[in-house]
Amino acid sequence: MSKISLKNLRHSYEPEPGPASEWALNEMSVDWSDGGAYALLGPSGCGKTTLLNIISGLLAPTEGEVWFGDENVTQLPPDHRNIAQVFQFPVVYDTMSVYDNLAFPLRNRKVPEPAIDKKVREIAEMLDLGDTLMSRAAGLTADGKQKISLGRGLVRSDVNVIMFDEPLTVIDPHLKWVLRSKLKELHQRIRTTMIYVTHDQTEALTIADQVVVMKDGLVVQIGTPVELFERPKHTFVGHFIGSPGMNVLPCHMEQGKPVYAGRQLDMATPITQAAEGARLEVGIRPEFITFAETGIAVRINKVSDAGRFNIVDTTSGEDSIKLLVPSADNLPADTAYLHFDPAHTQVYADDWMIS
Ligand code: ATP
Repeated sequence: MSKISLKNLRHSYEPEPGPASEWALNEMSVDWSDGGAYALLGPSGCGKTTLLNIISGLLAPTEGEVWFGDENVTQLPPDHRNIAQVFQFPVVYDTMSVYDNLAFPLRNRKVPEPAIDKKVREIAEMLDLGDTLMSRAAGLTADGKQKISLGRGLVRSDVNVIMFDEPLTVIDPHLKWVLRSKLKELHQRIRTTMIYVTHDQTEALTIADQVVVMKDGLVVQIGTPVELFERPKHTFVGHFIGSPGMNVLPCHMEQGKPVYAGRQLDMATPITQAAEGARLEVGIRPEFITFAETGIAVRINKVSDAGRFNIVDTTSGEDSIKLLVPSADNLPADTAYLHFDPAHTQVYADDWMIS
């Protein structure tokens, strides 16, 4: 096992790429520490699969290098990188038993049979495949087959990294929840570096210790689920993580503080960075807004019951502002005032957080 480093990586599928839009991956340098659980999260087309294929060696980057520990593996083919991969759709040998499918990667590496038996039974038990070990894989449901694929990815303990490319797509919604927690549990036991590609924020936030958020071929933030929630470095992270996402409102600055709708907003630390000429916005999550006696005047449009809380949709001029309240009882009349928690009020210049 080793640290994985991507150094000044860039990739384009065009023979002679020009502007940024012709690059599937824009320049990035990312370190994936040994034993970490990472999610690669972003919308369709943002470059997740391209990045995964570069790490696995299926694709050679147009520019930059891939290092596993102190070895430059940029030119090495996948079978020389010692990685395990689990794809979106199950890859199983139908004619073999579940047991033999799980044992396959270990037998390939000439692991002694008693060690194989121990490992196969351990993984099978964790994935609830214990009762079907001797059945032929052909007889299993799509869920069952994908569990075998997951098991085959997890069975080897000598790999540099296990990469999962949206592996729960074919899984029944209830089982999805179970498998997510199992994967997290398995990772805590085996501690192999894990990179899990998904466009589903819940999946990313449940499985990973660190989430790498991508947009348009760019890594916009790497952070723990709490960091992404509390300090989104880019407005996209604010929108993409959280439900509902962060409110983003136009502002200008006066004495280091944002002014929105004619009111100066307090911040934990006033802004020192100059951002002349940039488009300025203030970002605040619905969780950190409350009703107050004075503040930003809004009109209440709608209240939706979301189970543990209620989402209140308001408007301030042309802008929509959402906030969460525990109860829909005793809400102010149509016109109300909002208070933004200064500790969670952030300013963005051309979409990037400034401080
Ligand atoms: P999805 O979640 O839909 O799989 P993704 O985030 O994995 O998307 P990629 O598949 O890496 O994104 O695609 C990134 C960009 O590169 C997209 O604009 C896509 O159209 C383009 N692309 C991907 N594969 C190829 C290819 N083989 N040839 C040309 N362009 C490609």
